[in-house]
Amino acid sequence: MNTITSSGLRQRDKAVNWHPYTQMKTADDIIPVVRGKGIYLYDEQGKQYMDVVSSWWVTLHGHSHPHIAQRVFEQLNTLEQVIFAGFTHEPATQLSENLLQLLPSAQKKAFYSDNGSTAVEVALKMCIQYAHNHGKKKTKILAFKNAYHGDTFGAMSVSEKSFWTKPFESMLFEVVFIDTPNAGNLEYLRLQIKELADEVACFIYEPLVQGAAGMLMYDAEHLNSLMAVCRKEGVLMIQDEVFTGFGRTGKLFAADYLTEKPDIMCFSKGLTGGTMPMGITTCTNSIYNAFLSDDRHKTLFHGHSFTANPLACAAALASMELLLTEETQMNIQYITQRHSEFVNNLASHSQVENARSIGTILAFDFKTGNGTSYFNEIGKILYNEFLQRGIIMRPLGNVIYLVPPYCITSEELDFVYRNILEVLDQFNDKNI
Ligand SMILES: *Cc1c(COP(=O)(O)O)cnc(C)c1O
Repeated sequence: MNTITSSGLRQRDKAVNWHPYTQMKTADDIIPVVRGKGIYLYDEQGKQYMDVVSSWWVTLHGHSHPHIAQRVFEQLNTLEQVIFAGFTHEPATQLSENLLQLLPSAQKKAFYSDNGSTAVEVALKMCIQYAHNHGKKKTKILAFKNAYHGDTFGAMSVSEKSFWTKPFESMLFEVVFIDTPNAGNLEYLRLQIKELADEVACFIYEPLVQGAAGMLMYDAEHLNSLMAVCRKEGVLMIQDEVFTGFGRTGKLFAADYLTEKPDIMCFSKGLTGGTMPMGITTCTNSIYNAFLSDDRHKTLFHGHSFTANPLACAAALASMELLLTEETQMNIQYITQRHSEFVNNLASHSQVENARSIGTILAFDFKTGNGTSYFNEIGKILYNEFLQRGIIMRPLGNVIYLVPPYCITSEELDFVYRNILEVLDQFNDKNI
């Protein structure tokens, strides 16, 4: 057994680690986790935590899944890494084939990188250089307000500006932000895109759900309408499916809700089932062909040391096999159904606003008197309350959301829903 006490590890952790999105001065509550199985994580005391945020939206089939572990183990004993310039390997070729088969048919090529932010960087570079290779200069980008596309500089540029990006604002490139569409503003947005079409290299968007902004949802029909204008006006479209991909929205990809199709798509998070870091940017032949030239200046000079790492490819192949099983597909439909019933249930609650769901994503706003900033204390209070109940939830400001792994059972869903209602009732009529 492990002889290190939990508090001992916390102290050592504090001496050496710098955690993301964490104000380290006040970080006394970092929890040491020793193992994970299915939907649960366990600390040293054996206390179990139900991971209903899929460890930042990445875990699809539960933690330490034996099928993925086996495939990674086999790959580790065969080929762990190889330079991907001038060389290739079976797992990468197979993964590209398998993934492209599931995407809109115009997606023909896969470019590998390491995470969601880099998948976005690659997509942006493809679009800007696409114009460049055609002898045009287009440096502006179109994006949605409240967008989140990652934390690297390009990704920050196309994301909503907030206190997160404040120190870097002068270093970010020019982006035109437009509202997400609804019945009321659709015509205006179409006009806006039309007017900007000549200047912008591309339009980047999170399809149907803006995750980090607080699981904000908008209609496929309206997005279709904006995409149709982009298509007509020659504005390249980058569909960032880093969060929505691999079943999250109830269909394999958010693309499956849309009749209009993007030029470029970005994937990460659930790509490997949440086991290994990996990003993929896919594109059409039309994009690819703009780089296909005897002129070396037309090359996409982008690559990471671990591009198409065979272990991550093996994990992704294994995860996609699991995803396509009838069992997983039925689980996804089951969660979708239960979520939408619970949304109806929540709608009448006095403490709840904007209860919403799509597929395996459920969210609602916890009614507070004082706005919805990320700093909002209520997020922290609720986080701790759920943690005490053995549930990992990470409210975004006052937005409470569930993004569970697909292996969650009906009893486990009952448990989470019941605890949400109990916590809501506990805070009912309290002046917070
Ligand atoms: C999380 C996320 C990213 C960034 O992915 P990382 O792997 O965290 O860099 C990009 N786009 C969307 C839509 C995301 O949700």
